[in-house]
Amino acid sequence: MAADDSDTKATGAAPPAGRYAPSPTGPLHFGSLTAAVASWLQARSRGAAWYMRMEDIDPRRAVPGAADDILRTLEAYGLTWDGPVLYQSDRLDAYADAVSDLKARGLAFDCGCSRREARTGPAGPEGPIYPGTCRDGLPEGRSPRSVRLRAGHEEIAFVDGVLGRRSQRLDRDVGDFVIRRADGCYAYQLAVVVDDAHQGVGEVVRGSDLLLSTPRQIHLQRCLGLPTPSYAHVPLLVDANGDKLSKSEGATALDRRRPAEDLVAALRCLGQAPPPGLDASGVADVLAWGRRHWRLSAVPACTTLVWDAGRDLAEEA
Ligand code: GLU
Repeated sequence: MAADDSDTKATGAAPPAGRYAPSPTGPLHFGSLTAAVASWLQARSRGAAWYMRMEDIDPRRAVPGAADDILRTLEAYGLTWDGPVLYQSDRLDAYADAVSDLKARGLAFDCGCSRREARTGPAGPEGPIYPGTCRDGLPEGRSPRSVRLRAGHEEIAFVDGVLGRRSQRLDRDVGDFVIRRADGCYAYQLAVVVDDAHQGVGEVVRGSDLLLSTPRQIHLQRCLGLPTPSYAHVPLLVDANGDKLSKSEGATALDRRRPAEDLVAALRCLGQAPPPGLDASGVADVLAWGRRHWRLSAVPACTTLVWDAGRDLAEEA
């Protein structure tokens, strides 16, 4: 489906393209649908392109059949995308080139530490900070296992479209981070950055579980000379225990039987105000309403929302 270019004509500049990039670890659930709806509406309400990418580089997590199932569900909910689906498993050469380039310029280095050894550093917000053991060369008797990117000392700041200004110092909070794992898999952080640039993504709208990854992605973009898209993180839906609804942990899959109702419920979670009765119309009408009325500024500025399985109420956590 071609992107509507009405905004382009009005302003002369193409509105930034969006994307949806699920990992095929299971069927879509209501939480992943809500993030997809936010991203789709942010792009489509301005006539921008919206691309699909299947993040299937980790064979340990991929579930056979899940990628096709996700695509069929998005179609059933009317969330159409532009162009072919990009599969990360077809992009290994691009990731290898990026790693070689970073190593050649001294920005990344071979690390010989086991997972356990790498976790002996001081605690950071997302776990232990890499202690720097192999930063200045592999110690005697070590062989390379993973590849790490050097963390910078500067503050990395960005203005999130939902949550406002955020910043992080990677050396203090994360440390040098893995871009190619010991099992040869490329890390999510590397692949996502290479592919957002490759697909021409200008605005990333996704769940807030990835908020803390954003400074690492901006650092990688700077190291690779790639543009930085704008970012907006929508609330992550959690259950009554505060646990993330998760594809891989068996959160109830969408049954595709009442797509219009599910879309209206997603709009409500996203702070939009669909009129009563909209869910009695079809998917096309709900999405048309969404395109006309979408306001990113109405999305609750919080990182989690408790999702009530009754599907009518989501309350701020
Ligand atoms: N593949 C990631 C996930 O399913 C999302 C990546 C992203 O949106 O940046 O959690």
